[in-house]
Amino acid sequence: MPRVLDSTTTPMMRQYLDVKAQHEDAVVFFRLGDFYEMFYEDAELAARELELTLTGRGSKEHKMPMCGVPYHAAESYISRLINKGYKVAICEQVEDPALAKGLTKREVIKVITPGTLIDEKLLPGQAANYLAAIVTAHTQEARYGLAFADISTGVFRAAELYCLDNLRTEVLRIDPRELIYTDAQNPLDLEIASTRVETPGLPAARKILAHFAKDTARDFDLENKPLALQAAAAVFNYFKAAQKTELQQLTRLETYLPQNYMHLDSASRKNLELTETIRYGGKNGSLYGLFDQTKTSMGSRLLKEWLCSPLLNKDAIEARYAAVGELLGDLVSRAELAELLKDIYDIERLIGRITNGNANARDLVYLKESLRVIHNLAPILQQFSAPLLQDLNDPSLRGPLQNICTLIDQAIVDDPPLLVSGGHIFRDGYHAELDELRQISQAGKTWIAAQEAKERERTGIKSLKIGYNSVFGYYIEISHANRGLAPKNYIRKQTLTGAERYITPELKEKEEAILNASSRLQKLEHHLFTELRRHIAAHTLPIQQIARKVAVVDALLAFAETAAARHFVRPTILDDDRNSLHIKNGRHPVVEQALGTETFIPNDLYLAPEENRLLLLFGPNMSGKSTYMRQAALLVLLAQAGSFVPAESMEFALVDRLFTRVGAMDDLFSGKSTFMVEMAETANIVRNATKRSLIILDEVGRGTSTYDGMAIAWALSEYICLRIGAKTIFATHYHELAQLAAKYPYIRNFNVSVEESGPDIVFLHKVVPGTAGGSYGIHVARLAGLPAEITNRATEILATLETPQKSHGQLNLF
Ligand code: ATP
Repeated sequence: MPRVLDSTTTPMMRQYLDVKAQHEDAVVFFRLGDFYEMFYEDAELAARELELTLTGRGSKEHKMPMCGVPYHAAESYISRLINKGYKVAICEQVEDPALAKGLTKREVIKVITPGTLIDEKLLPGQAANYLAAIVTAHTQEARYGLAFADISTGVFRAAELYCLDNLRTEVLRIDPRELIYTDAQNPLDLEIASTRVETPGLPAARKILAHFAKDTARDFDLENKPLALQAAAAVFNYFKAAQKTELQQLTRLETYLPQNYMHLDSASRKNLELTETIRYGGKNGSLYGLFDQTKTSMGSRLLKEWLCSPLLNKDAIEARYAAVGELLGDLVSRAELAELLKDIYDIERLIGRITNGNANARDLVYLKESLRVIHNLAPILQQFSAPLLQDLNDPSLRGPLQNICTLIDQAIVDDPPLLVSGGHIFRDGYHAELDELRQISQAGKTWIAAQEAKERERTGIKSLKIGYNSVFGYYIEISHANRGLAPKNYIRKQTLTGAERYITPELKEKEEAILNASSRLQKLEHHLFTELRRHIAAHTLPIQQIARKVAVVDALLAFAETAAARHFVRPTILDDDRNSLHIKNGRHPVVEQALGTETFIPNDLYLAPEENRLLLLFGPNMSGKSTYMRQAALLVLLAQAGSFVPAESMEFALVDRLFTRVGAMDDLFSGKSTFMVEMAETANIVRNATKRSLIILDEVGRGTSTYDGMAIAWALSEYICLRIGAKTIFATHYHELAQLAAKYPYIRNFNVSVEESGPDIVFLHKVVPGTAGGSYGIHVARLAGLPAEITNRATEILATLETPQKSHGQLNLF
């Protein structure tokens, strides 16, 4: 739609076009009175995405499309646009239109994007809301800077990475809502081009060259990590451009080593249903759903992060075990802690709002109450010796937090109104002038009440009352029936259907004094409140620190509660020279919960470099192969996240990378054929796995013809076993592969046993050494309700196929 600037263009439209020129990539919400209006292409986009009615202004030839939303309902429209990945610029009237000389001044007061949200209503409660930035080094070796931050909580971290695959894994681990990059092209797109597989779960990325000037970043000391610093600067500047504030909440930039986390590719993250189920997408039925017994939003967010970021540092993992172990052994303290944690608000986000100037008086009271509860956690935690539980009692935080509590307590009443303009936020005695104004205003109101009684007596009208409205101020109201009794000094001001309203000079005089005091009172309260808020914002760091410590206790408590309820045990981490994994009577935590502890059959697993390096797992359909393999992956993942595990015992050496190649869930979305995706993912595994990795392969090769598939499965097993040496479980229906075990000492055959009982089979779900008898596919087909005509015919065909005739090349099925 062309924008026509000519003599007919109004000054307001010129103002709009100026704003739009500075925010071309955003949908501009342009404030006009009680509406936000959108024009031209923004209007068309909003009409389409928000189902608004498109209207037009101007001449027939140059009709300008426009549409609008009422300002009080704007939030939900903005959130819908943000959820669809758009950027929204809010352009406000920055002076009172009544006082403006000529055109009202308007400015963009903030830009909202998915990664820069601070508004609680728009934020996901149980997930972090990260903005991430990638910087690429233009040197011979690949090097990248990555930084991410959540402005609502103040988490701000940066790292450097040395290969594209690690960068991608790290971005997926962080799971940012928005991604920005400096290069001509997003490096992650380049990787997609080279691997030919799209990575599901990556957010849409924006290119933002303009924000990467590192000199404008705060003085963060990352001298030996220039790329990390550049990325951090990008994040910081992008936030600053969006929020147009000082960003006090981004006080501390932490650097970290991505290699401290287990490498978990996106397929595994998804297949193992860590945070949501594949089928329904929700948290219920996922690992996170099983564990999330946290009491605070901060704890819940951290728990999710822990489950998605298994560690590689033995000491850090043992520290979590130690804490979980102690909590597990003390039911009473667990209950007491849970009771207290329930009363702690999301102070991580509260301080974000305080720093942004969005917090109201109630938020401050919530902060105070939460800090008090945190204070009461200390004596309970003191009984424990695990450093992670002791950490909350940090003496250096006690003073500053106590001061904040006192400050808020002395200033704010216990139950303040929601709005700062709602009156009576501050306690009496907090501020002398405030008290005086309150007295004047109160005295005025008392005078009015007394006056009402006096006038009733003077006129003899019992129903006379003194009221107030913003147009006429104070007035005396008399019903029409009593109109004749109105005294001479009453001046008639307004006639209603049932009554007359009057004023008197005396009333007006008092009114001025009252209104004067009220308006000064309001101004002063507002001023004092913003001052107080600013003062507290200066203590952002200790509040963020304590919030993090509370989250840690809450997440550890969730680990302990789950361990207690589901009989988990503490795993033992083996030294690096013993690269084995030994699980006794392991259970799949989620399947066990769904089926019930009685029904679920536990299984052992033993993988060791010199003995059982690769397990070939046979067994009929529905016997439990996938469950067994996922169980192995989940137990390792849980153990490295610091949780206890569902097993009788588990000894393991730390796993550096976890790969799962199961199912073909995303094939439809990637636009590639099922087999192509299967092979690309397998290629990714063999390229990146090491002998310290764990690989789960579920029927690789089934996407093509039997002989091709079998040949690939055979060669793949040999390669993994001999060249990589990774611990591997490979479920397959190719019985021919069983011969591998005879050829290589490190390959073992196992099967999930079944028992034949007449024409039926019984699934025992027990993993035992050796190969399986039949595949029982037709049996499962019958169970699933395929018509008898088909299954009977299939049985006939199977019998024919299994006879030696097939070697003649032709099958006689007729
Ligand atoms: P397919 O080859 O068809 O993919 P599968 O062998 O991988 O099948 P699973 O999907 O793992 O089989 O399991 C099938 C069902 O068996 C599960 O839904 C579960 O209800 C049950 N099951 C699996 N393992 C166990 C177990 N250890 N104890 C009890 N029930 C189990």
